[in-house]
Amino acid sequence: MCSGSTRLWHPFANMAEVKDDLFTVDRAEGVWVHDRAGRPYLDATAGLWYCNVGHGRAEIVDAVTAQLRRLDSYPVFNDFTNEPAEQLARRLSELAPMADAKIFLTSGGGDSVDTAAKLARRYWARRGMPGRTHILSRRHSYHGTHGFGTSIAGIDTNREGYGALLAETTRVAHDDADDLRAAIDRLGAENVAAFFCEPVIGAGGVRPPRPGYLEAVAKICAEHEILLVADSVIGGFGRLGGWFGVERWQWEPDMILFAKGVTSGYLPLGGVAVAGRVAEVFWAGRGDRFPHGPTYAGHPTVAAAALANLDLMAQEKLLARADALETPLYQALLRVRDHPAVAEVRGGVGVLAAVELKAEVLAANPDAVPRVHRAARERGVIVRPLGASLAVSPPLTVTPEEIDLIGSALAEALIAVL
Ligand code: PLP
Repeated sequence: MCSGSTRLWHPFANMAEVKDDLFTVDRAEGVWVHDRAGRPYLDATAGLWYCNVGHGRAEIVDAVTAQLRRLDSYPVFNDFTNEPAEQLARRLSELAPMADAKIFLTSGGGDSVDTAAKLARRYWARRGMPGRTHILSRRHSYHGTHGFGTSIAGIDTNREGYGALLAETTRVAHDDADDLRAAIDRLGAENVAAFFCEPVIGAGGVRPPRPGYLEAVAKICAEHEILLVADSVIGGFGRLGGWFGVERWQWEPDMILFAKGVTSGYLPLGGVAVAGRVAEVFWAGRGDRFPHGPTYAGHPTVAAAALANLDLMAQEKLLARADALETPLYQALLRVRDHPAVAEVRGGVGVLAAVELKAEVLAANPDAVPRVHRAARERGVIVRPLGASLAVSPPLTVTPEEIDLIGSALAEALIAVL
């Protein structure tokens, strides 16, 4: 623990509450992080759902150091390029479940959301349908904190208090394909650009799709020629099994957003994989400029971190390992299903799961979720407080014994607090 006069404004935090009671993470290795006193904590959240290969991997550190010495940074604007960015784009294009994918690199997930939203609208304008501007998303969904992402957010509290946001957005029920169809009928497909969809809703409470839902919405989008944008910022790079987090549903989206696990968080990187059929409007014939791109797009050192991370994932067969982890992780959390404060345990699709507390428990104890989070931390396990839920998403290198520890710490924390 550390206290003192912080000047650092913490995202999403009530600074009045946390400013004098901060928890300093000092170092990390594997699935463990340590506080300043050297006490270890199991990082059952992989940072913010990103540290898929675990902390402290020398292979990534070495790749980054070597790249910094050779070419620290240089932009890929206009005709400039660099080898790590080219290699990364080639590799991701080959792994993406879409024909002839082109890769637009950004600095993170929110960047990628806004890139895709602008690209979708410009695509339709370029195809002579400038009226296709409306963007559909799901309730409970999270798409980052940039302008478009804030506008389409399905978590109401993240959209409120900012004045007028993008008007042409509609949120549909998160697990009912008929509601998507009804919204399209109401709006007219000729006014809709894209449907943004997290295959498993993450920050909105870990909500796996109901069986058949994702297949149904993909079909509806295809029928209406609405661009299907998979937000796999959490789901990619093993978290939901495949490289891009959509493979198990046989999706072939028009765009896939990625970030987080692409570097396991060692350096900030995001991007958009764009299906060749969409990209060709810009890349073929006389082409068209896409006047958009963050300064650090294609940063060579960040790309080197991603390449080393992808190497580790392949060498250690972490996608197969992730498949093997999803049931044990879910089962570890199911242990608390019968606790009287627990409404629901969600999981079983990917290496992420959550325990939701009952509404009446939260009404009587509004700070129950942060208190359980703290109690678990006091027992040596870091879980994530998320609205009414506590979520877990450990590194893909976690062992069965460590999964067991996550379940038991959460169970003990619930008993201690509620
Ligand atoms: N999309 C999803 C599904 C996310 O979970 C997140 C972040 O958690 C984002 C977008 C935004 O990513 P970033 O925080 O890197 O901007």
